[in-house]
Amino acid sequence: MTDGLDPATTLERIRRNLVGLKMARALEVLDQTLRRIEQGQIGAVDAIDVLLSEELTLRQNRRVKMAMMTARITSVKTLAGFDFAFQPSLDRNRILALAGLNFIERREAVHLLGPPGTGKSHLAVALGVEAIKAGRSVYFATLADIIASLAKAEREGSLRERIRFLSAFALLIVDEIGYLPVVPGGGNLFFQLVNARYERGAMILTSNRGFAEWGEVFGDPVVATALLDRLLHHAVVVQIEGSSYRLRQHAELVPEHVRSKALITPPPAPKRRGRPPLRREGDPAPA
Ligand code: ADP
Ligand code: MG
Repeated sequence: MTDGLDPATTLERIRRNLVGLKMARALEVLDQTLRRIEQGQIGAVDAIDVLLSEELTLRQNRRVKMAMMTARITSVKTLAGFDFAFQPSLDRNRILALAGLNFIERREAVHLLGPPGTGKSHLAVALGVEAIKAGRSVYFATLADIIASLAKAEREGSLRERIRFLSAFALLIVDEIGYLPVVPGGGNLFFQLVNARYERGAMILTSNRGFAEWGEVFGDPVVATALLDRLLHHAVVVQIEGSSYRLRQHAELVPEHVRSKALITPPPAPKRRGRPPLRREGDPAPA
């Protein structure tokens, strides 16, 4: 293969091979790596390691960036950037267990419940970022956006395709359930999506309202019951009871009745024969 006679020729071939292999980053760091070899700073094995590691890191970063765009995660939040000390009601280990992503394998629904500003969206996005880093496909949207897109697809006769598109992601994050009233027929459309994903893909849902209020949120108690039936079957419920991080510097301006948050209590899971009770993350998986 190599004649081993002319180092310049060999170097030229290495460059051409890196171009042929589309290893742009390795090509970029080739010269400085060679200089470090010449100066005796690193050996040949280290040099190979540097070239490959640089290339791999670049590719992984690029993949994560693309996946974030596909997921529509615009404001990147991380678990490292979450101050657990500010939210003592939240069990840090439970969130870290969720970051292990077994809930995606088990196709569960994770509910993050709590008053505004308590970090629900932050945690949902952070878990989404972990999933993307682990190579899983993720899609993030508010409930209002999802329903609007389903309603548009229905008008255009492409509802099945839209539901298929939203069902293809390993993790679907539905943010802000309960902030805006659901448009008439919206609950029904969302149910069709939830039903299509049921036991096929994982979801994270965030809400400032308790499950008992879903009838009101969706403007239809029958649809709300059917939704909760699916969404509480294989579910993890994380309740955050704390004050708003957004208002942390203005606590004295917030009225007392807003500061001391009412508890959002999950109702008993809907009765459905042969269904296991709610599990907490970390409990053994159902058979
Ligand atoms: P929610 O969705 O519950 O209304 P967010 O997750 O949007 O609240 O949080 C509001 C803002 O405060 C965001 O910018 C978020 O990053 C930040 N935030 C909330 N809780 C924490 C926390 N415990 N540590 C660090 N930042 C936080
Ligand atoms: Mg939010």
